[in-house]
Amino acid sequence: MIEFSEAIQIVRSNFIDPGCERTPLHLSAGRYLAEEIKADRDTPPFNKSAVDGFACRTEDLSDQLKIIETIQAGHMPAKSVSRGECSRIMTGAMVPYGADAVVMVEECIVDGDIMHYLGRGVKDNICKKGEDIRMGEVAISTGVLINSAHIAVMASMGVVEPLVKKALKVGILSTGDEIVEPGESPTTVQIRNSNGWQLYSQAIMAGTDAAYLGIIKDNPETTIQIIRDGIEKCDALILTGGVSMGDFDYVPQSLTILGFDILFDRVAVQPGKPSTFAILRDETGSVAKVVFALPGNPVSSYLQFEILVKSWIASSSGAEDPVARIQLPLAQEYVRKNNSREALIPGVVKENGVFEPLSYNGSAHILAMGRANAVAVIPIGISQLAAGSPVGVILLR
Ligand code: AMP
Ligand code: MG
Repeated sequence: MIEFSEAIQIVRSNFIDPGCERTPLHLSAGRYLAEEIKADRDTPPFNKSAVDGFACRTEDLSDQLKIIETIQAGHMPAKSVSRGECSRIMTGAMVPYGADAVVMVEECIVDGDIMHYLGRGVKDNICKKGEDIRMGEVAISTGVLINSAHIAVMASMGVVEPLVKKALKVGILSTGDEIVEPGESPTTVQIRNSNGWQLYSQAIMAGTDAAYLGIIKDNPETTIQIIRDGIEKCDALILTGGVSMGDFDYVPQSLTILGFDILFDRVAVQPGKPSTFAILRDETGSVAKVVFALPGNPVSSYLQFEILVKSWIASSSGAEDPVARIQLPLAQEYVRKNNSREALIPGVVKENGVFEPLSYNGSAHILAMGRANAVAVIPIGISQLAAGSPVGVILLR
């Protein structure tokens, strides 16, 4: 059995580089950037007024000033401002030569072409040329998972087709004789396939090109055949179920028969102990395919995807560890009997900044996960934490 942090390291170092492609800017959110975005000009590109008001010389503000022109955003000022003068100026317009401040229209009285300032001049209200970024400086680094703010930055820099990592092809497979699809009526002893669809949606939201490949019956031949067919079409397969100690758990042996190296099959984490990671190498020894065989219990498969599989996707896409970890005080005392594994406790980060564990019946209790926005990480060896103790928290997104 290996520690969870080691399992994360192993999956991160066994990445598959899917290569790069250009994608239209508006479709690039959720993709991993594969180039540095550099500013193509200074931002702001000129000294820009931050308010609607009057551009003037600070030293003249105690006097009445003559309004010499109106400067609209998108238009060059026609005149420079000299002593005793000001120009009416709109937000986003270029500050004229000679002016060192813009006073807000709300603080001025205007009578014909005379302006009188009533406020107290403390701010210049000018966004200086290049104060956000200088031409040639890096605006967004390689490996960033593109969000809507990055789209705005790229748009402002004229990037219309950013270079991104290709989406990894990920196949999702459920296993188990008891599993039926959500649209079917289960018999008394059957349950609906929740993991398959949960993993599929997790894979889509993680930016992969995911395919749902169905349910494998608990039968060794079918298991081998379906994994063999699936892996041909995909970079990675994510299986759920069939990796525990049961008499009908055929996934690990099938992977071995198919030539995979199992890099780990027991992890000191709860839930998720039987999480299995296997790789298939090509002739050159590089990692060609990977399989995550996750436990069947819904919370296990959910959290192992969120932490383990996302770490692999990020690493394959040239990104840093995507898992957001912070320290927060525990809302209530925590006690457990067995402390031999790292525990992941579903809970809620409250408005007052404490982590409150949810009532949780164990790894089958996916309803608790549906109410959680985070999990607390209880380290190996810790059996009890007092209310208010700091605890590591992973934010779920
Ligand atoms: P297994 O890892 O195959 O022993 O399954 C562990 C538990 O998870 C059993 O109670 C299974 O019925 C349940 N389980 C397995 N696969 C799924 C699935 N796709 N959806 C919901 N529950 C599942
Ligand atoms: Mg099973």
